[in-house]
Amino acid sequence: MPANFNLNDSSVVVIIGSGAGGGTIANELARKGISCVVLEAGKRVEITDFRNDEDGMFSLFTWLDPRTATGSWYVAKTSPDLPSWTCKLVGGTTVHWGGVALRFQEHEFKTRTRYGAISGANLMDWPVDLKEMEPYYDRAESRIGVTGTHGIPRLPASNHCKVLFAGAKNIGYSKYWTANLAINPVPRDGRAGCQQAGFCVQGCTFGAKWSALYTEIPQAEATGKCEVRAESQALRIEHDAHGKVTGVVYADRNGAVQRQRARIVCVAGNSIESPRLLLNSSSNMFPQGLANSSGQVGRNYMRHTTALVFADFGKPVHMYRGTANGGIVMDEAGLNTKRGFAGGYNLETLPQGLPSFAQNLVPGGWGRERASWVDSYVNLAGVWIIGEDLARENNRVTLHPDRKDKFGVPIPNVHVDDHENDLAMQNHGMRQADAIFESIGAKRTIHRLPFPSTHNMGTNRMSANPRDGVVNSHGQAHDVKNLFVSDGSQFVSSGAENPTLTIVALALRQSEYIADQMGKNAI
Ligand SMILES: Cc1cc2nc3c(=O)[nH]c(=O)nc-3n(C[C@H](O)[C@H](O)[C@H](O)COP(=O)(O)OP(=O)(O)OC[C@H]3O[C@@H](n4cnc5c(N)ncnc54)[C@H](O)[C@@H]3O)c2cc1C
Ligand code: SF4
Repeated sequence: MPANFNLNDSSVVVIIGSGAGGGTIANELARKGISCVVLEAGKRVEITDFRNDEDGMFSLFTWLDPRTATGSWYVAKTSPDLPSWTCKLVGGTTVHWGGVALRFQEHEFKTRTRYGAISGANLMDWPVDLKEMEPYYDRAESRIGVTGTHGIPRLPASNHCKVLFAGAKNIGYSKYWTANLAINPVPRDGRAGCQQAGFCVQGCTFGAKWSALYTEIPQAEATGKCEVRAESQALRIEHDAHGKVTGVVYADRNGAVQRQRARIVCVAGNSIESPRLLLNSSSNMFPQGLANSSGQVGRNYMRHTTALVFADFGKPVHMYRGTANGGIVMDEAGLNTKRGFAGGYNLETLPQGLPSFAQNLVPGGWGRERASWVDSYVNLAGVWIIGEDLARENNRVTLHPDRKDKFGVPIPNVHVDDHENDLAMQNHGMRQADAIFESIGAKRTIHRLPFPSTHNMGTNRMSANPRDGVVNSHGQAHDVKNLFVSDGSQFVSSGAENPTLTIVALALRQSEYIADQMGKNAI
């Protein structure tokens, strides 16, 4: 039975957000017998609400409240009101995600040491390394059911994957396979096996793909220790005269302002909303924003260097059949500065649906050439380049000076200037993708630059020294010991890997620390 806590109950842990980080931490804490209230800005939908409908599910899932974008990045030009693609519903962006679940590599935790000082970048080593993370990666993979790990078989290769793999082999690559996916190949953990329907990003009507919506959240509620309040948007975190947080002010589903008292607050709103909330929680004691004595809240925003390459083979490929992000080529993921950039990238199959493919082909443009690409849709293969972008201090989330949301709270602005390292990697990736497809007879290829960022990282980064970041290696705020950051905003570097497995692993590690500290009455 879900719990029902009183607003004045100051013994609870309040978790803001119910996605990869928030959902996992709620389940872990509740299983340990710790009372939690999850405040989730979005609605609660169920699997039965999912439809194989790209536009419809985008509207149902996506955080469409106002945001703005500035800077030299492509997204600021093509999508100035939607810089990041995150979700607003119970389960967070794990409802939309494609399920690719990869571990960071050893060097990606130590970028300052391994890459050296790169001009214009703000590199720093994580205060935690791969060895320390390995047991948590193990638990995370087993928990969310990642193919290719813990005896879970890999999914079969779709035709689209086979096309990518044939090209990769032709140009001398050897590290290609169906990706590590948090998608059941066979029934597991009370969820169905994958039916290869291809609508993974639209919510997976079979529940084969792991999502906090129908795993972590109901499991947490079943303990009787967790209450999830949907349509409850945190507006401000409050603190006492000693600088300890005391509760969260939020707008409930009727727009009424409520105050939930708390012993501990965990912020897990994703890398745009989490820093926004801390900045909007400024006070006389914390004039720059809560937990922001370093001035680092909102800074070092990362979103991966990305680009898309589509190839027309003149005969059917049917890229939209089978698991969406099914295939991966990992030969370029390692560190190899001979290519002219630091960091690495992966190549992942990315079959856009016809509506988004047509819409994003050339934003705002049309004409004979573009129409012919849409006409060739069944003959296309598509690959997504996803690589490490470098942290930069001025790539950051700030509060908009004038614009406010419907609750009167300043909206976030996301500013990004591409680093030359990011652009060099992007160009390299597009050239390699062309070579892959041309080696197996592609008639033509087309490049598409990034769409709104699906991988949002940094903005409340970890640091060994409080001067350099916002939280310590357990996600605990340097300035406020009963405040935690439990999402991808803790990341110090972005790695070449999709981020969610690392978010879940960090949440598992953090929950142990919180339980330990609570047990010792240290927080
Ligand atoms: C289309 C798509 C495909 C993706 N595919 C992959 C993939 O294959 N692999 C991968 O690793 N990652 C993927 N991602 C990214 C992945 O979904 C995110 O990295 C992950 O969900 C982030 O977890 P999080 O806990 O930081 O935030 P989220 O999962 O985004 O959860 C944050 C939650 O907080 C809520 N919230 C925010 N602010 C407030 C507030 N003030 N009050 C109350 N609630 C609030 C939001 O409504 C949301 O529900 C994909 C993303 C998208 C959009
Ligand atoms: S392909 Fe598999 S994971 Fe994707 S929607 Fe279909 S059943 Fe779900």
